[in-house]
Amino acid sequence: MAAIELDGIVRRFGDTTAVADVSLATERNEFLVLLGPSGCGKTTLLRMIAGLLPPSDGRILVDGRDVTPLPPRERDLAMVFQNYALYPHLSVERNLGFGLSVRRTGREEIRRRVDEVAELLDLGHLLRRRPKELSGGQRQRVALGRAMVRDPRAFLMDEPLSNLDTKLRASTRSQLISLHRKLDTTFVYVTHDQIDAMTMATKVAVLNHGRIEQFGAPVEIYDEPASAFVAGFMGAPPMNLLPAELSTDHDDRLVVRGPGVAVSLPHRGGTDPGARLVLLGVRPEHLVPVPADHTGPALRGRVDIVENLGNEEIAECQIGNQRVSIRGSRPIGLAPGDATTLAVRPEHVHLFARQSGRRLVWEPEQAPALVP
Ligand code: ATP
Repeated sequence: MAAIELDGIVRRFGDTTAVADVSLATERNEFLVLLGPSGCGKTTLLRMIAGLLPPSDGRILVDGRDVTPLPPRERDLAMVFQNYALYPHLSVERNLGFGLSVRRTGREEIRRRVDEVAELLDLGHLLRRRPKELSGGQRQRVALGRAMVRDPRAFLMDEPLSNLDTKLRASTRSQLISLHRKLDTTFVYVTHDQIDAMTMATKVAVLNHGRIEQFGAPVEIYDEPASAFVAGFMGAPPMNLLPAELSTDHDDRLVVRGPGVAVSLPHRGGTDPGARLVLLGVRPEHLVPVPADHTGPALRGRVDIVENLGNEEIAECQIGNQRVSIRGSRPIGLAPGDATTLAVRPEHVHLFARQSGRRLVWEPEQAPALVP
């Protein structure tokens, strides 16, 4: 039975459709990340799961039970907000126990649960403090702890790391991963940060304009993006996408050609795909500078900028009239102004239909086909 199932969820605000027909199901104990750019409908979706906003259409099931008509408190889900929403006048201890005391839980039981959670989140020494006497990371842990004392069926989190600096963000991610393992509960986590998704999620739903573009494990989303949108959203820098034309040559190989682009791919037999407008996708780490007389698949252009990241370098090149990023160990061997040839291995080439943006598969035995 799915822990959380969304069945044809739609939410409109007047003329705006914030969420358009979203269906997905998470297994128990999944760490589900709802990922997408600002305005794609992530928060609206999470608020509907929490019961803070009714859907215009569709059903929400928790552990197989239809909770769509139920108010938040009857769903047994815990929401952790971006701004923590702690009570400023209460101590950490009372903030943690607040949810239980309004449910008239006994004092001893509250103390036991609060101590348990404080221990798990390393808050024991802070129990007497007020929220304003805590750091951002500590407040974050109190907000989580307050959700945890209730032992809910799932945790719903809206950008909980967005107020933390880079270093604290990284360490809080590790804490959330180990917490998820210890609690053995479903997490649903909203973010626009693809690193959050890659590092913490067991499943990612990538949203665009209120629809799911792709739903899968983080590696699937990174290695086989279902659309040019997903490809361009994941990775830093994201996948390079270059307009090109697809055809077959006299040896029946697939040829992708465009300004500065000449990539031929193994392809035996099958139907002739004919000329087709595509986007050629290559990740920055899959482009390698090679000598100009290289004969294999390559992009040709000029180096604009080389950025030093310490252990790696990122070079920005001009290929035709497109910007292309390359990423590699330092020194990458490129200097601004250089003419450059960048090799790519056929297995690292992604193709997308230019008009729809959907991924094309090009098995060696087949003509490219749209992924269903
Ligand atoms: P962000 O990352 O910026 O928080 P988001 O992906 O969470 O974005 P939502 O907040 O879910 O996006 O908003 C989705 C769309 O719905 C946006 O176009 C937004 O303007 C619209 N929207 C959200 N809430 C309301 C509302 N109460 N009234 C009208 N439009 C709304």
